[in-house]
Amino acid sequence: VDKLDYRRFKDKYIVRLQKGEEVVETLEKFVKEEKIRLGRITGIGATDNATVGFFDTKEKDYHSKKLTGDMEILNLSGNISEMEGEPYLHLHITLEDAKGVLQGGHLNSAVISATGEIIIDVIDGVVGRNYDDETGLNLFEFE
Ligand code: FE
Repeated sequence: VDKLDYRRFKDKYIVRLQKGEEVVETLEKFVKEEKIRLGRITGIGATDNATVGFFDTKEKDYHSKKLTGDMEILNLSGNISEMEGEPYLHLHITLEDAKGVLQGGHLNSAVISATGEIIIDVIDGVVGRNYDDETGLNLFEFE
């Protein structure tokens, strides 16, 4: 996989993910390198191997499932914040298979099968996260 190709226009980044790149890992590395502390991520593209989670509020845990085969990434959306000084990405995805069936969830990983077109809006600010016992989730934490 070649070096990540992107352009920056003021506070927005346009990123092209390539075949074989894993979305979450690649974007985490990217926001770290670019020192993006807060922002919004949106994207579309194609994947053939994704793992998505569904949060069980009673068990306070994620049930994850693996999806394979050609799929359109109809929507990838999420945010960038920080937890313990490290970038924290929270991403959700909607996928469509060859039969037109939609599946999706909390994104754990997705390998690009054709291309990934990502736009990152940088927000000038900082928002942290803290583990919340009641929900079992890392919630936004404001100073
Ligand atoms: Fe989630």
